[in-house]
Amino acid sequence: MGLDEDSLEYHRQEPPGKIEIATTKPTNTQRDLSLAYSPGVAAACEEIAADPDDAYTYTAKGNMVGVISNGSAVLGLGDIGAQASKPVMEGKGVLFKRFADIDVFDIELDEADPQEIIRTVEAMEPTFGGINLEDISAPECFEIEESLRESMSIPVFHDDQHGTAIISGAALLNAADIADKDLEELEIVFSGAGASAIATARFYVSLGARKENITMCDSSGIITEERAQHGDVNEFKREFARDVPEGDLADAMAGADVFVGLSIGGLVDEEMVRSMASDPIVFAMANPDPEIGYEQAKAARDDTVIMATGRSDYPNQVNNVLGFPFIFRGALDVRATEINEAMKVAAAEALAELAQQDVPDAVVKAYGDQPLQYGPDYIIPKPVDPRVLFEVTPAVARAAMDSGAARTELDTDEYVEELEA
Ligand code: NAP
Ligand code: MG
Repeated sequence: MGLDEDSLEYHRQEPPGKIEIATTKPTNTQRDLSLAYSPGVAAACEEIAADPDDAYTYTAKGNMVGVISNGSAVLGLGDIGAQASKPVMEGKGVLFKRFADIDVFDIELDEADPQEIIRTVEAMEPTFGGINLEDISAPECFEIEESLRESMSIPVFHDDQHGTAIISGAALLNAADIADKDLEELEIVFSGAGASAIATARFYVSLGARKENITMCDSSGIITEERAQHGDVNEFKREFARDVPEGDLADAMAGADVFVGLSIGGLVDEEMVRSMASDPIVFAMANPDPEIGYEQAKAARDDTVIMATGRSDYPNQVNNVLGFPFIFRGALDVRATEINEAMKVAAAEALAELAQQDVPDAVVKAYGDQPLQYGPDYIIPKPVDPRVLFEVTPAVARAAMDSGAARTELDTDEYVEELEA
């Protein structure tokens, strides 16, 4: 049977779907039930009424993330609507649980208007310790996230933007190290100017790249000052408009140190890779087909091409699962009010640092005994590496405390021991 048939069978097995609610306290006796619900439950309610922060003590809020989508930009499927997006959102919940033991309610909203989505999500604040926005199309996703970050006092994180930014940012830190180039001197070209590209470009600047060195291309070519002035681009693209002559992606790539593809497959050929600076960094992350294939990019030239893609069948897979479970785990455990830039940078640096360490045998075995050692073909950790939890999570928690986003303090040494237990 093929993947499609297997998947349908997997989903339809009784009970349909992939998740259920489980209880965490005894529910056997009449007494148990009168504690869980009326009349005993009133005591917990009164505590929270007196101090809302007690919701973290008496309810599941502190371990509960809302995965919220309107299905307008679903991985490779496009605008399939809220109902059809539910298998993806349930799947996201599965990943949160499997990698970081976080519980998820997936909420599919049949709504296109950003203001309505904002209002609806704001009203859900009492339920959740954090909000993961998912698969909402650009440019609406920017407005929705920005507004919710402002108005809510729990973390709001649009994973399609920041997940990609953080994981590929970790890859960039190590790629620059291996190519022996300074971040602030890198000439960086983006193919794509959508949700993930804008967020990734912003994040590379947070990591130390210079905005003046970034050239962004959309489906009409280089986003120039000229185009921006003539109102040809939205405000988010305008942020990266560059004062250069009009041109296409091939023009932009000539002499560049870094190519970041977050557009569509097959846009880049070997000639374009050959036109780049020495030891070029090529992150071709369009899914399922990258802007240029791994073998093709590697074969284009004699020096080292440091290559990453979104695919699991090649080295350096930029996979968001390396980020969101651990970032939320760290944020929830200090009851963070937000996931800020410092926390994202801490996550990327922890991932980059981890890739420089020796890899345990168990992880090597899980990947068919390919040699996993820091170098051009291993610049980010593998998704199943259990050490990611122990490195990224405390780094995020620490950054939350240092940046004033934490509502509670914890001892990070003890915390690492707890995570490892
Ligand atoms: P999006 O918001 O729809 O943005 C797509 C962008 O690609 C748009 O800016 C579009 O230009 C541009 N584009 C389309 N055709 C182009 C062309 N011929 N030349 C240059 N640019 C072109 O999508 P997204 O969510 O950012 O995702 C973009 C891609 O990245 C997808 O393939 C997605 O699978 C991949 N991705 C991978 C990862 C990962 O590997 N972890 C994570 C996130 C996304 P216009 O603005 O002119 O329409
Ligand atoms: Mg997504």
